[in-house]
Amino acid sequence: MNNMEGIVFNIQRYSIDDGPGVRTTVFLKGCPLTCLWCSNPESQNPMPEIIYRYTSCKKCGTCVKVCPEHAITLDEDGVHIDRKACTKCGKCVEACLHQALQMSGKKMTVDEVLNIVKRDMDYYEASGGGVTASGGEILVQADFVAELFRRCQELNIHTCADTSGYGSQEAMEKILEYSNLVYFDLKHMDPEEHKKLCGQSNELILRNLALVVAKGVPVVIRVPLIPGYNNSEENLRALAKTVVDITKDAPVNLLPYHRYGANKYRMLDLKYQLEGVKEPTKEELEKAKSIIESYGLKCQISK
Ligand code: SF4
Ligand code: SF4
Repeated sequence: MNNMEGIVFNIQRYSIDDGPGVRTTVFLKGCPLTCLWCSNPESQNPMPEIIYRYTSCKKCGTCVKVCPEHAITLDEDGVHIDRKACTKCGKCVEACLHQALQMSGKKMTVDEVLNIVKRDMDYYEASGGGVTASGGEILVQADFVAELFRRCQELNIHTCADTSGYGSQEAMEKILEYSNLVYFDLKHMDPEEHKKLCGQSNELILRNLALVVAKGVPVVIRVPLIPGYNNSEENLRALAKTVVDITKDAPVNLLPYHRYGANKYRMLDLKYQLEGVKEPTKEELEKAKSIIESYGLKCQISK
């Protein structure tokens, strides 16, 4: 079991935003949702893929020459990759002397991930931290996450599952068995709006939230607040009411919209669809917080 492999696109040590204390966050590839504001678009594709850092490219043409599939072309705008023709052989990444091409995602065994996680045991102990599995959507790689968490708990490392909640009940149960805490995202309460914004309806997500609560695993609700998309009073009231109906104990964290991931879209030949959307104002955030709190829930605004 310890050689079970997952596809990981980043392991971030000394993380302080993904659960209590100092944590190591393991980011996994693959997500069935396509949220318009996703700040990790490289996480959506379940397989490794090439990222093109256009600001580092010197337009030397080396990658064009080495690609066995003739999948790369070069013009005055830089490199273009035919992603259907690309076999992810990695030859262009090796050949680029300017690190303008990178492979996002690689197979790692549970042991390999655990060896990195274990480096910071002292920090976890001193801060009450641990490991967080994030994505992408961790339910896509539920067996891998469950095994990683099982091994972490054997070492007394606290485990936090960061999930959109979109996945099978079976996958959720596997992960919950070894989770000390769940960070659970809620985005929009209207199923049709949810589908427009995230590519899928929210019904499965709400069923899985009820499952997390029924299993008795502590849960923190996280709400990305996107002005003009999900910050209406109507949606926030519906969200708070839904949470209260399932659990009165779950704190709600509001995550203000930011544009940190916007540049990544071009690196993947994708279009960022929230151009022009502004970060929420302090007043908008405070208003959202007070609506949530009016339902008796604890609410805080994350940085
Ligand atoms: S090898 Fe690297 S620097 Fe040269 S054109 Fe390709 S991506 Fe740009
Ligand atoms: S990974 Fe391989 S096939 Fe894909 S663009 Fe690079 S050299 Fe070509």
